[in-house]
Amino acid sequence: MSASEVRRGPSSPEPAPAAVPYALAPLRHPRHGAKVLPEHARAHNRALVLQTLFHRGAMSRADLSRETGLTRVTISDLIAELIADGFVAEKGVREVSRPGKPAMLVDLDHSGHRIVTLDLSGPDTFAGGILTLDGTIVVRREIPHPGADGDVVGTIVAFAADLVRDSHAPVLGVGVGSPGVVDDAGVVLTAPNLGLTGFDLEGTLRRALGVPVVVANDANAAVLAEYTFGGAGDDVILVKVGRGVGSGLLSGGRPMVGSRFAAGEIGHVTVATDGGPLCSCGKVGCLEAWISVPSLTARLAGADDDARTGVLRDAGERLGIALAPVVGALDLSEVVLSGPADLLDGPLAVSAADTLRTRTLAKVHEGIRVRMTEQGQDIVLRGAAVMVLSGQLGVS
Ligand SMILES: [Zn+2]
Repeated sequence: MSASEVRRGPSSPEPAPAAVPYALAPLRHPRHGAKVLPEHARAHNRALVLQTLFHRGAMSRADLSRETGLTRVTISDLIAELIADGFVAEKGVREVSRPGKPAMLVDLDHSGHRIVTLDLSGPDTFAGGILTLDGTIVVRREIPHPGADGDVVGTIVAFAADLVRDSHAPVLGVGVGSPGVVDDAGVVLTAPNLGLTGFDLEGTLRRALGVPVVVANDANAAVLAEYTFGGAGDDVILVKVGRGVGSGLLSGGRPMVGSRFAAGEIGHVTVATDGGPLCSCGKVGCLEAWISVPSLTARLAGADDDARTGVLRDAGERLGIALAPVVGALDLSEVVLSGPADLLDGPLAVSAADTLRTRTLAKVHEGIRVRMTEQGQDIVLRGAAVMVLSGQLGVS
């Protein structure tokens, strides 16, 4: 098929608008005037109000009406409903110098609900958190990884149940970032580090906890944290470097999942024609064998400063080689790195950026940024909270 056969003419109808208001896809910028079916209009408007407050903070009902394009009456109705549901609170009156009745401010009731999240991607520990609706972690815990042969599921369920029980407000939902490949129903298709294959983790947790649950790949959760809390653009890849190497991708502000739910699995892409280190998968020269934390740590052992810089620059070049076609194909604006800053931030990131610039179209991609995340080690806990906010409230 030639390109002209698939190109739409100017008179082609617009694709039908998404009918589901609480789409999992991020919707960071409130969409004014987006068409929705009548039966979804109220839910859509409710999400629009929550999204506006989430990103702009406290404002009066009149401001909210202006920001959303909804009428004052609609806003008053929605705010009354959201206050009754515990998602919005009145925050007192704005100080004004001009005469007249001062306006009452409303904002998200950040402490009216809690979100519980788990990060199962650590090699030695599971992390868990209780978060407020603005993504602040108010409780953080770690428990030892039971080992892939241990009672992994029992440990995860008990950990989550403890966090739900200890929440000081109703739990909006539970978000889980899991290593491995996870489908869109929260079934862990494969996760060697957890010893799970084809296991319905989302359904198991939902039945055990009695609250909404969403389970996704850890790097896919992490890129959502970067998008919602870290100011990442709509077209970004987040590369998560730990015991393995994975990535999460957003294109046009929407998560990329892939045909087998394995989008972003770049760890076993071969980045050498000159041999290279042996990978745990049995191949030589995989990206993971060059830049995973164990691999880098082993090659840096005993290295002096010059040798250290050489190893890190080489690893950065390999990363750049793996990412260049991705950046080119998807026209990404940014590469964000998550992992140990002492390894990633410095010669490795600089070398990756240099390599990307030399291997992509200069006019388009010369401004490509490679930077460390500022979300720290809790990026998966915060990203899993975005999954819950997005799924339950339409906020991201
Ligand atoms: Zn491999």
